Order: sequence, then structure tokens, then C-alpha cells
Amino acid sequence: MSKRASTSGLPRRNPLRAPGAVAFTAGAVTPGMGSPARASQSGWRWCAKCEGLWFNGDTSISDCPTGGQHVHSASGHYTLRFSYEGGGGQDNWWYCWMCLGMWFHTPGSTRFGRCPGNNHGEGSHDKDWRNSYRLETTTSNNGPGGQKNWRWCSHCESLWFNGHATWGKCPGSAAGHTAVNSADYILRVS
Ligand SMILES: [Zn+2]
Ligand SMILES: [Zn+2]
Ligand SMILES: [Zn+2]
Repeated sequence: MSKRASTSGLPRRNPLRAPGAVAFTAGAVTPGMGSPARASQSGWRWCAKCEGLWFNGDTSISDCPTGGQHVHSASGHYTLRFSYEGGGGQDNWWYCWMCLGMWFHTPGSTRFGRCPGNNHGEGSHDKDWRNSYRLETTTSNNGPGGQKNWRWCSHCESLWFNGHATWGKCPGSAAGHTAVNSADYILRVS
């Protein structure tokens, strides 16, 4: 089935499940309830092909802007926090169910980026759940440690790693991702 035909509101893939934890389904969490038992989410990986961050915590098929699927070889095991968990950082980061990547969208904004899983990068990202993620930055975080050099790309709205001598592969620009106007984001390795 072609994913390009998918639109918001139609049946989607299986919801994300937090490994080793209670099944996480859309709408199952009430923001603000603050259950201490609900931990941050593991399963996030870096893709050496495109430099993007993607979710490898379930069986969903990813889409890499270089073609084929993202890869997790040589990647650390990243753990991300949801906005409702509080702490330092920036909200409005979302998981895209089509490419399995992490992207930024302010509610109400018309900027939806470019998704490698939607019409080969011609289409935009989409959100799978009502909960956004909160990413730490060098100016708003939960203490020392973590890995810096993660950046927001204004071409595709995705999060990507800028710590190597490459701009990676961006579905929104032939020149690769950009770090212009991006904060310096910090990811935690579990
Ligand atoms: Zn990739
Ligand atoms: Zn996407
Ligand atoms: Zn990009």
C-alpha cells in the first residue's frame, strides 16, 4: 500500500509501544496527570545514511531520504521525553508515522516540512499522537551530559545530527540539511 495516499484521520499503523513498559497508544495518556511510572521513551536511533533521528522501537517500516529504510548501525540508544514529563527543553517536537522521524511543528503553523515517507519527499510530515516531545537544548536542559550537535532543519523540519563532516540527506534541499537558526539540541543516550 502506498503511503502517499494516507491522510490525517485515516487508520494508521500500530501505535507506538514503549519497550518493556505499558503499551502506549494515542490518547491513552492525559497530559498533566504526571504519572511517575511512565518513563521516557527509548528506541530512538541515528541514521548514518541521512543523519536524521528515527524511531526503531516497533515494527513500523521507516523511510530514509537516501532511499530505502533508515539504519541504526553505529548509533547510540537515545531516550526522549514527552512534553508532559516536564523539565527543561523545547516542546512541539513530533513523531512522524510515515518516515518514523522526529520533526518540529508549532500547532497552528502551516509549516509541515518535507517527509521522505510521503510522496518521496514531496509531501509533508504528519503526527501520530497527541503528545509532543520536549527536547533539551544547551540553554534549557536538565543538567550536564548528553550529546550536543543535534539540529533542526528549516528545509524539512526534521531533527538531524550535525556532529559529522556532512549535511546528510534532506528531502527539502539538494544541499542537505541546514543548521541555520537552530538551537543546539541535546539528546540523552541510555
Ligand atoms: Zn535515514
Ligand atoms: Zn515524515
Ligand atoms: Zn532537512
